[in-house]
Amino acid sequence: MSDDFELETLALHTGIHRSQFNEHSEALYLTSSFVFDNAAQAAARFSGAEPGNIYSRFTNPTVTAFEERLAALEGAETCVATSSGMSAILACVMGLLSAGDHVVASRSLFGATVSLFNNILRRFDIETTFVSATDVAAWEAAVKPGTKLLFVETPSNPLTEISDIAALAAVAKKAGAWLAVDNCFCSPALQRPLDLGADLVIHSATKYLEGQGRVLGGAVLGKRNLVMEQGVFGFLRTAGPSLSPFNAWVILKGMETLKIRMEAHSANALQIARWLEVQPNVARVHYPGLPSHPQYELAKRQQKTGGGIVSFELKNGKEAAWRVVDSVCMISITANLGDVKSTLTHPATTTHARISQESRDAAGITDGLLRIAVGLEAVKDIEADLARGLSAT
Ligand SMILES: *Cc1c(COP(=O)(O)O)cnc(C)c1O
Repeated sequence: MSDDFELETLALHTGIHRSQFNEHSEALYLTSSFVFDNAAQAAARFSGAEPGNIYSRFTNPTVTAFEERLAALEGAETCVATSSGMSAILACVMGLLSAGDHVVASRSLFGATVSLFNNILRRFDIETTFVSATDVAAWEAAVKPGTKLLFVETPSNPLTEISDIAALAAVAKKAGAWLAVDNCFCSPALQRPLDLGADLVIHSATKYLEGQGRVLGGAVLGKRNLVMEQGVFGFLRTAGPSLSPFNAWVILKGMETLKIRMEAHSANALQIARWLEVQPNVARVHYPGLPSHPQYELAKRQQKTGGGIVSFELKNGKEAAWRVVDSVCMISITANLGDVKSTLTHPATTTHARISQESRDAAGITDGLLRIAVGLEAVKDIEADLARGLSAT
């Protein structure tokens, strides 16, 4: 595949290695292991002298196709697939950090990511300092001699705060640390963090890459020496949170339509955000495509569109938020996002419920906040579904 192709072309044609049957659509290799011709070949494969598949915890052709395709879309030298977005973050940390290392992370991360850094990794003596997603000076101030990793998610979940990737990359470089960006909300169709100086990109492929809410998957992308040699891949092949070939195949097919889906999600989300802004019971709308968003200018520079996620605060707190949730008939009440079907969540009592009230307040996840991952239904039908609970508040 030529590197000159545009993203939508790469999404359709990268990673295709046809079998002897010359199939047109990508084959699904559902096999846990691979057969060797003889003892010498088995030995050569295990020693690494001969490239090739051994066992699907290490590599599998369908998974490799997914990795090649995502690497092309992100403009990455290499990609390793994982069983989920969380295992991508875990593999990144376990592959690159050691006890005693320090992490600086955004306060506005996906709930499970906060728990991973705050509860689990702390037990292994990896300490994390959480700072504001948008205050570059705070990141710089939090860096100390043992700082190895800066971790950010932009736009953030659920408030869609925008972090300046290029500025954080400069902070990381000066500190001799790596910058990892969770690019789940934008996908490479809207934002390419490696082009802006990030060292690593993390994906939950479960979301927009797959696009139809069917399977879990994840990936770590970056330079070969970081992802392959320094240990992300080594951790995966040893510890085992590898992507299943079936899931890789589903995600591969989903990625074919990534660009047009992201454009359609974004167009719908912008209309919903504008409509929510004029609803009397809505106190505030968070959407990077609205001029009222505090980092609107940065978002315009850094992303192609505002993306598909909108969050909004109701004037009357949790009671009003729950009324909207309980009044929807068409929109799914579920924590997933990135699906062609719209989904609605109350973060304070679901995705962010395990975080202390104190940390939630600090992150701005109020009891009246709702997050809608805007799907591809007609905008007028989404509005009508939200309007019922909104007018009752
Ligand atoms: C969903 C999500 C994750 C975790 O991904 P899983 O595939 O559910 O493990 C990480 N980061 C962000 C921003 C997410 O939305």
